[in-house]
Amino acid sequence: MTKLQDITDFADRVLTWFEDHGRKHLPWQQEVSPYKVWVSEIMLQQTQVTTVIPYFQRFMSSFPTVESLAKAPLDEVLAHWTGLGYYARARNLHKAAQQVYQQCGGVFPNTVAGLESLPGIGRSTAGAILSLALNHRATILDGNVKRVLARHQAVKGWPGATAVHNTLWDVAEKFTPTNNCKAYNQAMMDLGATVCTRSSPSCLLCPVSADCIAREKNTWQNYPGKKPKTIKPIRQTTFAIMQNTEDQVYLIRRPEQGIWGGLWCFPEISQANSSITEGADKTEVLAMFRHTFSHFHLDIEPIVFTISEPLAELREGGGAWMAIDDAMSKGLAAPVVNLLQQLKTRALS
Ligand code: SF4
Repeated sequence: MTKLQDITDFADRVLTWFEDHGRKHLPWQQEVSPYKVWVSEIMLQQTQVTTVIPYFQRFMSSFPTVESLAKAPLDEVLAHWTGLGYYARARNLHKAAQQVYQQCGGVFPNTVAGLESLPGIGRSTAGAILSLALNHRATILDGNVKRVLARHQAVKGWPGATAVHNTLWDVAEKFTPTNNCKAYNQAMMDLGATVCTRSSPSCLLCPVSADCIAREKNTWQNYPGKKPKTIKPIRQTTFAIMQNTEDQVYLIRRPEQGIWGGLWCFPEISQANSSITEGADKTEVLAMFRHTFSHFHLDIEPIVFTISEPLAELREGGGAWMAIDDAMSKGLAAPVVNLLQQLKTRALS
């Protein structure tokens, strides 16, 4: 482990590097606020900066304040999340905004514990809000920071394992400086994102290369340790894609709990009772495809049913008939977006 004087030196080197090489023009860095930092941090979980930027801008233009987010219907919030994945993030964002608005008068708590009590905010996100928005001394440990510290200090093992996770937090706490924490934390995220990258770190450009153990031993590939391999189970389902003669499709809003919670989706045939596909006068089986979740694969067989009754009444499961363009503006499960696009292309051809 690096000695104390090197720790101060570590922060100094990172801060000096940041002056010339840090990112300072990201949309959430302008007129910075706890709200903006929070939304950006949640979006950036498991998602690249370049992907997040347009989503963040759309989100901020529709929900510019925590109050506007708290008052928005969940469906509208989910619609702004379509394509970003991990929808629990959006549901938690909405719930947390309601708590901040209703219980804290619209002002974010200014302690790690207070922030962590809100849905979807963990220790690192809390640290980011406190340091980046308020310049408090608070530690962060997102994926980029984990990679830099695991390599620099040669912390073995998968960071998802409790012991490794705790060691990395200890290292991160020790390295976080008392002053200038805002710039330091941003610099560490930038260092991980632009220099100490996952598959090709630029050690020659790195401000902390002189005492980086992984660089010295040329073992950066070993850090952070990989998640132990597990074989994902495969599940199967059938989507009933019902179209009526007015070219509307029938979608149901899924329950809040479970996969695609709160999103609009085609009914699954296993869920549907006989009335769902009754009156179908034509069917067509589309190519089966796989959608992969973090813990299983889902093989989806889409079947198109054409309903001859112009406005067949289907009310089961909170569903609704809607034109494809209207459906596209809802919060949708990712495979549904692809299937709607296919239907649209077919209608035009
Ligand atoms: Fe990463 Fe290389 Fe810097 Fe070590 S020297 S922290 S491996 S970029």
